[in-house]
Amino acid sequence: MSVPASGDRRRELAGRLAAVRERLDAAARAAGRDPSEVALLTVTKFFPASDAVLLHELGCDRFGESREQEASAKIAEFRASVAEPVEWHMIGRVQRNKARAVSRWAHTVHSVDSLRLVHAFEKGVRAALDDGEREAPLRALLQVSLDGDRERGGVVAEDLPALADAVGASEVLELGGLMGVPPLGWEPERAFEQLHGLHARLLEDHPAAVELSAGMSGDLEHAVRWGSTCVRVGTAVLGYRPLA
Ligand SMILES: *Cc1c(COP(=O)(O)O)cnc(C)c1O
Repeated sequence: MSVPASGDRRRELAGRLAAVRERLDAAARAAGRDPSEVALLTVTKFFPASDAVLLHELGCDRFGESREQEASAKIAEFRASVAEPVEWHMIGRVQRNKARAVSRWAHTVHSVDSLRLVHAFEKGVRAALDDGEREAPLRALLQVSLDGDRERGGVVAEDLPALADAVGASEVLELGGLMGVPPLGWEPERAFEQLHGLHARLLEDHPAAVELSAGMSGDLEHAVRWGSTCVRVGTAVLGYRPLA
């Protein structure tokens, strides 16, 4: 049946994963950093739970998803075949009415960008804790808008301190750090340098917010150079996503 096909897929994923790990190691060394400082978050959006299972067998233990409905179903399927705990991260935009559902499964959310969303997550996480669906606070990264365009998601720099204070004051959220995506048309170096500067300023007030989620398939070397602690890699490991 599907044994040969799944063997092929496994080989394909193993080869691409090895290549990405080599890129990450080389980028860390070039930046004078220890490769263990940069986590690989494999982004499985649009790909089936079976791929996450294969990647788990290949040593991946944290996965990124960008849409709540797809993630919930996939994680349930994944858990039916893998008993060990892994981390699922929400990296996409979250509508407030999805915060409760995301709070059931997310170890970390990378895309917190408004006070209203912070409050929605506080409610959602409290409910998930009360219902026994999670045991730990939700780690929240603040997504920054580097070009100040509020329409495309992310908090603008001037609103960042208040948002960080709100998450920092929460009992059920844990301020993990920042996330950023280079705006369309920007040089990645410029984007990640700016993000690094914002992160340095955040750390002055919130020294535990050490995570910097930056870098994807096409630009991870630049992000590692500017202090990324977590690269979010989809295409380079899983291949091109089917068009929606
Ligand atoms: C899809 C996605 C990624 C992965 O991008 P690739 O270019 O496929 O590596 C990273 N970050 C976010 C926020 C995404 O939505």
